[in-house]
Amino acid sequence: MFVASFATETNTFAPLPVDRAAFERAFYARPGEHPDTPTLCSAPLIAARRRAARDGFTLIEGTCTFAEPAGLVSRQAFESIRDEILGQLRAALPVDVALFGLHGAMVADGYDDCEGDLLARAREVVGPKVVVGCEHDLHCHLTPKRVAACDLVVLFKEFPHTDFLARAEDLVDLALRTVKGEIRPVIGLYDCRTLGGGFMTNRPEGRAFVDRIQAMEGNDGILSISVGHGFSAGDVPEVGTKVLVIADGDRKKAEALAEKLGREVLLFQRAAAPPHYKPDEAVAFALGQPGRPIVFGDRWDSPGGGVPGDSTIMIETLLKHPDIPSAIGVTWDPIAVELCRAAGVGGNLWLRIGGKAMPVSGPPLDAHVVVKALSPDLVIPFEQSRVSMGAAAAVAIGDVDIVLGSKRSQTFSPPAFSDMGIDLSRKKIVVVKSSNHFSAAFSKVAASIHYLDSGGPFPYDPLRVTYRKVRRPIAPLDAVMGCA
Ligand SMILES: [Zn+2]
Repeated sequence: MFVASFATETNTFAPLPVDRAAFERAFYARPGEHPDTPTLCSAPLIAARRRAARDGFTLIEGTCTFAEPAGLVSRQAFESIRDEILGQLRAALPVDVALFGLHGAMVADGYDDCEGDLLARAREVVGPKVVVGCEHDLHCHLTPKRVAACDLVVLFKEFPHTDFLARAEDLVDLALRTVKGEIRPVIGLYDCRTLGGGFMTNRPEGRAFVDRIQAMEGNDGILSISVGHGFSAGDVPEVGTKVLVIADGDRKKAEALAEKLGREVLLFQRAAAPPHYKPDEAVAFALGQPGRPIVFGDRWDSPGGGVPGDSTIMIETLLKHPDIPSAIGVTWDPIAVELCRAAGVGGNLWLRIGGKAMPVSGPPLDAHVVVKALSPDLVIPFEQSRVSMGAAAAVAIGDVDIVLGSKRSQTFSPPAFSDMGIDLSRKKIVVVKSSNHFSAAFSKVAASIHYLDSGGPFPYDPLRVTYRKVRRPIAPLDAVMGCA
């Protein structure tokens, strides 16, 4: 079995170019050098390692790398890493299985379907009989090209993505059963023709739906069910919500169930969205809520969505109330971190914070701050994974604490604050730069969890985005039967 991983999520509207160095800086493991803990997209390698140790098959490891979600990937970065992995696959032949951990929403200069290109070339290398499969984040573009190249495609089911390792284990298990001839996977794909089919599985409607599809797996010839929510910040032809079903030998059955479930997703997705509070509304709402902290996800400034993570809109809002104990982070600002490190813990300085990368992030904010804590590398957990925010600083303005990081990454868990000396139980309001992944870990310390609509910079409203490549018709840009 050969396994490699190549991942990023491309927001084609973000002015943050991704070169090869962006992959090498974020996460880059040569064959055999992957740590024991998985990353979000390299979990198939860890699942395969554990299974190989148990079952005794030969695992040949390829390169595993990801870049933090941002803008377009350079042609040189995509082609060089793609060809590196395909070269490793060629050298590994003969193999029975080739698996890939791919985010599934990478777009490169000249390549609207990076994963389709990689998988089709991998299929060419191994021939028609070898089992080819991939794991995707559910925020992916499920293009017909990549589905045609694969025997198995398994997506995360959970948003927040708490199940990336469990789904990787499913993929490895299905691949081994296919090689042994126990199953004959065939894929049915249904296009919901909407840009807005996402839902959260920590909300009742999404939870019930995912519990139900999971219970269908393993019964009546259904091997695996995945809902691709899509990633509407990628202007590519195949963007949008799709349902993928793998059945044992019966393609018609797979297609029929994919369509049935796709229609169900369209019915509940809009009703399933939680309330989103505007900045000032959020403060007023939090003050009326019992307990502390009241935690808000600043959804549209999450680096996980490919935007910078240096928006000042919510810092500005919190600073209108410097007497309300609050904390916000992690704001991306390597320059500010460097200045804080020079000032040292206890240092006082005028600091310009954030607002450097996109006009809709708000202007930079100038304030007199006290440096409360410094870290040479703030590393926080995300499920079984560990994520570096780089060198970090915590600064205070009145009772408002701000965590500044030098590596773009979303704020997955409370150590982003507690490891910087901030006691969240003292804070009335906590704002985290994350769309929803924060909710699993923060729900353990929060009085309650809510979501912000601070206006950007993520292009969250498809009706206000100029798409050039998206196939039509698609909701909500066009009237589509069955779509709200
Ligand atoms: Zn995702």
